[in-house]
Amino acid sequence: MPADVAVEGIRKAYGDVVAVDDVHLTVGDGEFFTLLGPSGSGKTTTLRIIAGFEQPDTGRVTLGGVDITGEPPYARDVNTVFQDYALFPHMTVAENVGYGLKVKGTARRERHAQVAEVLRTVRLDGYGGRKPIQLSGGQRQRVALARSIVNRPKVLLLDEPLGALDLKLRQEMQVFLKSLQRELGMTFLYVTHDQEEALTMSDHVAVFNDGRIEQVGTPSEVYERPATEFVAGFVGTSNILERGGRRISVRPERIELDKNGEAATVTDVVFVGAFTRVLVDTDTGDRLTVVRKNDGSTIEPGARVHLSWRDGDAYEIAQPLKQEAS
Ligand code: ADP
Ligand code: MG
Repeated sequence: MPADVAVEGIRKAYGDVVAVDDVHLTVGDGEFFTLLGPSGSGKTTTLRIIAGFEQPDTGRVTLGGVDITGEPPYARDVNTVFQDYALFPHMTVAENVGYGLKVKGTARRERHAQVAEVLRTVRLDGYGGRKPIQLSGGQRQRVALARSIVNRPKVLLLDEPLGALDLKLRQEMQVFLKSLQRELGMTFLYVTHDQEEALTMSDHVAVFNDGRIEQVGTPSEVYERPATEFVAGFVGTSNILERGGRRISVRPERIELDKNGEAATVTDVVFVGAFTRVLVDTDTGDRLTVVRKNDGSTIEPGARVHLSWRDGDAYEIAQPLKQEAS
């Protein structure tokens, strides 16, 4: 797969704050690629450098193999969708979507045809004459999307575009965005702090921590085989234990409570519908989370259990990248 976007060793500091520190990324043509990490980890800065709104202190950015590091934003074949997308309130939906084409001098007929087509693509057929205020939050977000894909950029950058929507709408929009990306065959570079969102939508995920990338992989790789303790903790719940001088991680759903194994005491039981989350303290002093499918049986705090997991479900993880200050 040819690299559509490549980021090579970028660094960006604001005074004493190093926002992005030696970041490398390779995004394949037509991929849904996600930058995942907590607030302040450097995701937006990376995206802004790719868009051309910021210049890196060092490193370069290429698009389709061409170095674009020095190019201004408008000269890059890239559009950005932000969380706080601003539609022009006095313009109709169609005018909002067609605005960029108009500025570019696209002929009226052609413009109308393209706007109509993109409104169909985002399932807003027939809404072209409305004003933004007459739309729901999800519809407005789809207008913002339509506006950013109408001129068919090579790459679409999306910075937490669903952050302002409520959970149900956000989940609907996740499914919609993913199918839209497939339909368009466009490269999407998506920023989120929501691990579930990243795992559901992406072909590849880059996990950011403190300006650096800790791991790049498919959703199942970063979930099943986190490279570092940070990734193990940030992507899903994980249990980290020391056994025989090694640090190992076991996912909560891979631990069984009923077999022979290490003795432990149940400290808390949380019913979550289809499954139950059970917290246990092992006799050796570890606190673990275990997830069990609900099969009608019950378990109470104070119960004595035995923990076991298959060898293949426990894997060694690297030491933390940065030693904690002592
Ligand atoms: P994220 O998008 O992952 O939340 P950002 O890239 O926005 O992270 O920020 C990374 C770090 O850089 C943060 O510590 C942030 O405060 C700092 N930062 C970002 N932009 C600026 C700026 N324009 N001036 C000063 N500090 C900034
Ligand atoms: Mg951000």
